[in-house]
Amino acid sequence: MSTSPSRLPGQAMSLIQLSNVTKRYDAAGQALTVLSDVSFEVGEGEFISIVGPSGCGKSTLLHTIAGFTKPTEGRVLKGGRAIEQPGPDRAVMFQEYSLYPWKTVLDNVALALKPKRVSRAEREAIARDYLRLVQLEGFEHHYPSQLSGGMQQRVSIARCLASGPDVILMDEPFSALDALTRDLMQEEILKIRERERKTVLLVTHSIDEAVFMSDRVLVMSRRPGHIKEVVTIDLPRPRTLAMRAADPAFIACRERLTASLRKEV
Ligand code: ADP
Ligand code: MG
Repeated sequence: MSTSPSRLPGQAMSLIQLSNVTKRYDAAGQALTVLSDVSFEVGEGEFISIVGPSGCGKSTLLHTIAGFTKPTEGRVLKGGRAIEQPGPDRAVMFQEYSLYPWKTVLDNVALALKPKRVSRAEREAIARDYLRLVQLEGFEHHYPSQLSGGMQQRVSIARCLASGPDVILMDEPFSALDALTRDLMQEEILKIRERERKTVLLVTHSIDEAVFMSDRVLVMSRRPGHIKEVVTIDLPRPRTLAMRAADPAFIACRERLTASLRKEV
């Protein structure tokens, strides 16, 4: 574990850059500064987690990268170009599974491919591939309400991947799941990410989850949120549940992040 500036470790190629990002909302005639001078880079293939007290601007930060909202000041770049709007290169996964309840599992995933102008048959074939990847083969014709929370979340992962993003943005995606399912989902996401070589930004309130999954963890201050600390997680991959329970390096990371965060709440 080490504390490093927001620059990239080693030889990693920078994919996303935020420079001096400030975000103000004008709520009922009152300016509310949500993000204050946020700068960091995300390397290609890197897994970054963002932790911070509730209301510090984590979702807002993710939304500037998604292209849902623009910073008031500063720049958000991907591949050197300003992010102006949402795009299929960046998939967003929320806490709610946000599936269409009236559509089947297969249609929910195939829908992500609609903008790609491929035939319906091709869309379905690709959707089936990703459903297999998240181990939902055989559930193609079920409706979301017929699935458990964990299975619904896997459908949204399949949908995310089907749209062919190189960046996945996740906003507390596992919060609604029970502890056991959450552990399984975390391992699954790591496996898929390894195989598909995605860059991931994860907002989470679980320090344990952040350490388990990430290459680096950004700690945000309370609002107006800025990056107060960046902790590099030097644990080898694949990460295991055993590591999580007893690895001294894992525990040291967890303690450091807990101490850092505790000052903010
Ligand atoms: P977090 O995800 O860290 O809990 P958010 O990014 O959701 O925090 O919100 C940070 C702050 O910005 C909150 O005080 C919230 O009320 C405010 N906020 C978020 N979106 C808007 C908006 N569209 N208009 C006004 N205020 C907003
Ligand atoms: Mg949030």
